[in-house]
Amino acid sequence: MSRVYNFSAGPSMLPLQVLEECAKDMLDYKGSGMSVMEMSHRSPVYDEIIKDAEAKLRQLMNIPDNYKVLFLQGGASTQFAAVPLNLMNKNKKADYIVSGQFSGKAQKEATKYGDVKIAASSKDANFSFVPKTDRSSFREDADYVHICFNNTIYGTKFPYIPDTGDIPLVADMSSCIISEPVDVSKFGMIYAGAQKNMAPAGLTVVIIREDLMGNAREDIPVMLDYKTMADNDSMYNTPPCYCIYVAKLVYEWILGLGGLEKMKEMNQKKAALLYDYLDSQDYYIAPVQKESRSMMNVTFVTGDADLDKKFAKEADAQGLKNLKGHRSVGGMRASIYNAMPYEGVEKLVEFMKEFAKNNPKA
Ligand SMILES: *Cc1c(COP(=O)(O)O)cnc(C)c1O
Repeated sequence: MSRVYNFSAGPSMLPLQVLEECAKDMLDYKGSGMSVMEMSHRSPVYDEIIKDAEAKLRQLMNIPDNYKVLFLQGGASTQFAAVPLNLMNKNKKADYIVSGQFSGKAQKEATKYGDVKIAASSKDANFSFVPKTDRSSFREDADYVHICFNNTIYGTKFPYIPDTGDIPLVADMSSCIISEPVDVSKFGMIYAGAQKNMAPAGLTVVIIREDLMGNAREDIPVMLDYKTMADNDSMYNTPPCYCIYVAKLVYEWILGLGGLEKMKEMNQKKAALLYDYLDSQDYYIAPVQKESRSMMNVTFVTGDADLDKKFAKEADAQGLKNLKGHRSVGGMRASIYNAMPYEGVEKLVEFMKEFAKNNPKA
């Protein structure tokens, strides 16, 4: 067996230990005589898995008791509609901080359902930083404020939690959830597609304060109504059973390492290795402002599109996969989520040095 270092932004690497556990249990999950993929979601053996997944996530993120955890489908993108359908319910107004492509998509989707204001944006600077805001940035009668906490494509992350006063703060955390501790109580709702840092694609996790549920628009599709999902313990219909099982194993893996404080320490060490190298030389350019740098997605360019292409191609041949930047921005992007080992980043930096030496710029 040979495993590569996969720098994909998502779906992305899963911890080897988790994959081994999946393999071990593939044909016969703990004496049940079947794979988790084959089980009824209503069976006692599966009930234990989903309950355990929720308990482990609550423990890991220290989720307060007045928050519900929902295991849904449809990806983070479905939440771009579900959020306004559920939460734009008092004044039909919502404020969005647009700090990248996904927050832009979320904002655009929300305009279908009410009065949406862009409270702040860094679009004019090609999203190279996260805009600063304070309470005065938001309309007092907004039903919620929406942010994307880590901007996967541009490689930026909020260096602060916006102060929205009493207005519920909603955060898309698809590409940074469980990478470090966050104070859940500062948010009305957190959502994340699982395929970046938690599980295979197909699962979306929603963490929502209970009092925000139950006031959805009347015409909301039942599948998007958080209250329906919460009342049915995420089993109004068939949940993404296998993904939830893998997520549970990932939560256990992190708890076994020492929890989110330890995970943050490991992630900081990986990111520092890469950023310190980027700051020490002038062959590669890191376009993101230092204060807004993401610990999960690191973007850089050579300044020459042909060299960028060559870089990704030669890195690939050495087992450093998926380093090509997002199609909309070009350059390179190294996604170094929880499951990326330190050695993977070491190998990448070694390769970057070699490449710079072998490919002098004209
Ligand atoms: C990947 C990503 C999305 C889109 O997720 P899907 O699950 O593909 O819908 C949305 N927001 C962020 C921050 C992402 O990284």
